[in-house]
Amino acid sequence: MELYDINQIKSLLSQHGFNFSKALGQNFLINPDVCPKMAEMCFEGNDDFGVIEIGPGIGVLTKELCKKAKKVVAIELDKRLLPILDKTLKEFDNIEIISGDAMKLDLKKLIEEKFKGLKVAVCANLPYYITSPIIMGLLEKQLPLDNITVMVQKEAADRLCAAPGERECGAVSAAVSYYSKPEILFSVDRESFIPAPKVDSSVIRLKIRENAPITPKDEELFFRCVKAAFAQRRKTVLNSLSATLSLNKQELSDALSKNGVSPTLRAEALSMDKLNRLCDAVFELTR
Ligand code: SAM
Repeated sequence: MELYDINQIKSLLSQHGFNFSKALGQNFLINPDVCPKMAEMCFEGNDDFGVIEIGPGIGVLTKELCKKAKKVVAIELDKRLLPILDKTLKEFDNIEIISGDAMKLDLKKLIEEKFKGLKVAVCANLPYYITSPIIMGLLEKQLPLDNITVMVQKEAADRLCAAPGERECGAVSAAVSYYSKPEILFSVDRESFIPAPKVDSSVIRLKIRENAPITPKDEELFFRCVKAAFAQRRKTVLNSLSATLSLNKQELSDALSKNGVSPTLRAEALSMDKLNRLCDAVFELTR
């Protein structure tokens, strides 16, 4: 079955009485160039990969993943798509579909049970309404992943892949750079989907780091400080941090200066090393 042909897709969907759910972020890919490229760039020539796909839809990316990976586990929340996936993926024996919510599944356990001895990647055209929570969940749980190669809205891609010190950087980008080396791979225009969304997309790859680029004194405090520093983006780090963490302004200002962080800068101007020093300053004040 040709999953890029709009007429065939429409006929398949109508046979199953399926209509698109906006709430579940259902925009299915119809551009034949995108999925093979995503799969290729996720595996980078390796053939000992297992892959988790979040939201297979009617299986267009899943097919390409099945051609290249040793094993594919695809998690789909919308039960109406399961009989369709049975049909579109019937030629493959290395696919397992899990009916459920990717946000709620224990992915650590899933990886241990399903992918013994394999490198594991996540590859998906993510439902846009949960892009950041999914990516942050995958990173924060420190799952044994090689990379996360996903399609997200273009603006989200720019934000997620911004390095600390760049204008687009926010708390989420700092966390992404802490856990991974992010890269924007290519862009995908809105006409590549049915139905067409209002914005363009980009495919990004987050190559998981073996070691973080900095060694915070307290990792949990580091992320609390980063969130607090970016909480009021237009303010200086001194104002944003002192307000969000209820710290004495003068003491904080002195501690920041002592640790080599100018209190009048905005968080977006701070490199990863400076964010770490900012955390050191708060550490000194609160321990
Ligand atoms: N992979 C398909 C493609 O590229 O054409 C579909 C991508 S579509 C953008 C997102 C898919 O994620 C939909 O199939 C939707 O039903 C599914 N989905 C939405 N929320 C989900 C969740 N919490 N867990 C798993 N799948 C989800």
